[in-house]
Amino acid sequence: CIFCKIVNGDIPAEVFLANDDFIVILDANPKVEGHLLVIPKRHYDNFLDFPLEVYEKFLVTVKDAVEKLGVKDFNLILNNGKDAGQVVGHLHLHILPRKEGDGFEIGA
Ligand code: 5GP
Ligand code: ZN
Repeated sequence: CIFCKIVNGDIPAEVFLANDDFIVILDANPKVEGHLLVIPKRHYDNFLDFPLEVYEKFLVTVKDAVEKLGVKDFNLILNNGKDAGQVVGHLHLHILPRKEGDGFEIGA
């Protein structure tokens, strides 16, 4: 799995933030400036496999990343399953900082 390889350091990535359970990296193909991916270090295929116990740490990590970005306007997007646009089969959440006129449209 490509994100497991990133977590293990086998594939390079720009790490924005990391803690015991998650890494936050810059998306290699950013949809907007500062596009981040929050990735659990353990492999879960998707949101439905993600254990309840990790939810709080997950959201704390998201908040830490958003605060480090220093933005107030952003979208959080989780593509779950192929038909919803999930390409990488290792659960991840997109953080998309937003600016007026940045051209990003959800679903586009
Ligand atoms: P998905 O469509 O699965 O929700 O999103 C996968 C995201 O991972 C895409 O936005 C894509 O640009 C990003 N991505 C795929 N491979 C890599 C990689 O090797 N490194 C980084 N940094 N991002 C990747
Ligand atoms: Zn994985």
